[in-house]
Amino acid sequence: KAKISDGINHLTYDQELANAITKRSHIAFALQNVIEKQEFCLHYQPQYRLSDGALTGVEALIRWQRDDGRFVSPAEFIPIAERTGQILEIGQWVFLEAFAFHKRCQRADMPVFRLAVNVSAKQLNAPNFVENLSLALLQTGIGAEQIELEITESSLVSDLDHTVEILHQLRDRGFQIAIDDFGTGQSSLSYLHKFPIDRLKIDRSFLAPILKESDESPIAKLLVNLSKDLGIEVIAEGVETPIQKAYLTDIGCDEVQGYHLDHPMTEEDFIRKFSVHSIISSKLQLPFTATN
Ligand code: C2E
Ligand code: MG
Ligand code: MG
Ligand code: MG
Repeated sequence: KAKISDGINHLTYDQELANAITKRSHIAFALQNVIEKQEFCLHYQPQYRLSDGALTGVEALIRWQRDDGRFVSPAEFIPIAERTGQILEIGQWVFLEAFAFHKRCQRADMPVFRLAVNVSAKQLNAPNFVENLSLALLQTGIGAEQIELEITESSLVSDLDHTVEILHQLRDRGFQIAIDDFGTGQSSLSYLHKFPIDRLKIDRSFLAPILKESDESPIAKLLVNLSKDLGIEVIAEGVETPIQKAYLTDIGCDEVQGYHLDHPMTEEDFIRKFSVHSIISSKLQLPFTATN
């Protein structure tokens, strides 16, 4: 352990640590009955194919609005819920909610799309994960083929053999698997061929160097080529500008997702944007629409 000789720094350090721990336990405590209080909802962010601009997928992202109206970011509360184990209950809620959304979209004659759901390592390694997931499908009446499970690179390496086994079980049931935040985790490229996966998600940090037209991202390029060699699909996340989108098209990336295309949106906004009726009216550019 490092010795902190400066008494004042020592105090600050302890105080900051104490504050962080207090905040964490507040969040863990507040998370206890969030589902019953109905403070969670999902937002949906579209994913598009670069070759023709078609909608291919939608990622479900959890939102927590506390009773005082403030939003708590999933980047803040998901890691806490993972540590306390609350992620298991939250994760099952997400499956049910997201699958029911997909079912409602099918009923509303929306274009067909795959639904991506984030899964944490703790969920993946829970004893009944595959069964619970199948149960959520049965409860909502949708097929596994339409679901993609996004698993971060770092959750894959904790128990390699077990994880590979679970991924095979999931794929056998028809689920698609994507590796999220690819390139930011600890995993070595040499493991990659062991994972039965359908898609790589290039982390948005690799798009940061693309500011003007002549800029390059050697890592994004590398990951696109790697995906091609492995025979899997590749999607870039966090695409914020037309220049980044053009670059990704140039290097042969399959799909994009990001604020330049759409921010994550409510179900209502999603349906408004993609229902057959609104697609037709925007294509025909109707001068007015009936209000009743
Ligand atoms: P992620 O799965 O990598 O999701 C992408 C994050 O980037 C989302 O943040 C999204 O809103 C944001 N994003 C999308 N486009 C852009 C862009 O163009 N620029 C920038 N700067 N950001 C963009 P969000 O919704 O705050 O979620 C953060 C993380 O929390 C997610 O990262 C995921 O790891 C986790 N998470 C979210 N929902 C769930 C969930 O239902 N279950 C689990 N286990 N984790 C979740
Ligand atoms: Mg994700
Ligand atoms: Mg990501
Ligand atoms: Mg992430």
